[in-house]
Amino acid sequence: MMIGIDLGGTNTKIGLVRPGGEVASKANCATPLVGGAEAVIEVIARTVEELLLGMDGSRRAVVGAGIGAPGPLSLDKGIIHQAVNLPGWTNVAIRDLLSDRLGVPVLLENDGNAAAYGEFWAGAGKDGKDMVMLTLGTGVGAGVIINGQLLHGHFENAAEVGHMIVERDGLPCPCGQRGCLERYVGAAAVARRVEQAIRDGALSVLEERLHDGYRIDGKAVVEAAKQGDQLCLDVWREACEYLAIACVNLQHLFNPARIVLGGGLAQAGSFLIDPVIEATRRRGWSPCMSGSGFDDAPEIQQAQLGYQAGMIGAAGCAWARFGERHA
Ligand SMILES: [Zn+2]
Repeated sequence: MMIGIDLGGTNTKIGLVRPGGEVASKANCATPLVGGAEAVIEVIARTVEELLLGMDGSRRAVVGAGIGAPGPLSLDKGIIHQAVNLPGWTNVAIRDLLSDRLGVPVLLENDGNAAAYGEFWAGAGKDGKDMVMLTLGTGVGAGVIINGQLLHGHFENAAEVGHMIVERDGLPCPCGQRGCLERYVGAAAVARRVEQAIRDGALSVLEERLHDGYRIDGKAVVEAAKQGDQLCLDVWREACEYLAIACVNLQHLFNPARIVLGGGLAQAGSFLIDPVIEATRRRGWSPCMSGSGFDDAPEIQQAQLGYQAGMIGAAGCAWARFGERHA
């Protein structure tokens, strides 16, 4: 069994994952926001004990652990340099701390990469070698898999597709750049764009909710757009166009067999996938459309593992690293 951990700002998902990607047992815990890394590591260790107890598993059955975490990280050193959603986490040597507490080797991976590896290993990308995944959560996470391996880059920060610039002098991003993809297609960005338009006088069924003091979220925008709300439809279509621009760029950069869309907004299913496929075709280069038979456009698909992708993928990365040593 490999322990898979998806460390998030709100929740931490922990699972025991078999060599083929099957989840034997899992738990979803609130991430303690006081007590720093020590408190989180304690919750992880206790949860693993409970999961093992619950399935009559012995500690000896555990080969190692993989943890997917928000960055920036140093994968090689096993350090979380800074996690925006985890107050007080600066330069935490999470890999070694966790390894000491659990008594098994631990691998640290970026959360977007872990989710991508999960889909590649046990989900939508299972039968291929080259895949890109975009996780459309509050922000946009991503991972690039080339020839079966996650692309890390020299500085270990490859595949930050969410901060790929898609608009010159576009919306400012907390990362310091302008016009980042995340500012147009992330769930928070989509919701904020609807809110701003309503404040600027646009009509929408979501207006009342805003006036009642509630914030609009990505799910509400999708629901309203599906029901024909014009403002939400416009914002949604625009998000799909920006996603298509990203897909065309990714096609030319990596030539993947498929681009997998996951995260909360991807729950919209064909309401997301179909217009993105259409716009990717329309915006992509003409040889693919000329009838010559040449076509290198990737398949664009919905993710299959839902909220478990990061947890399963973290375990998958750890299986790839520690599995053989164990065998
Ligand atoms: Zn950015």
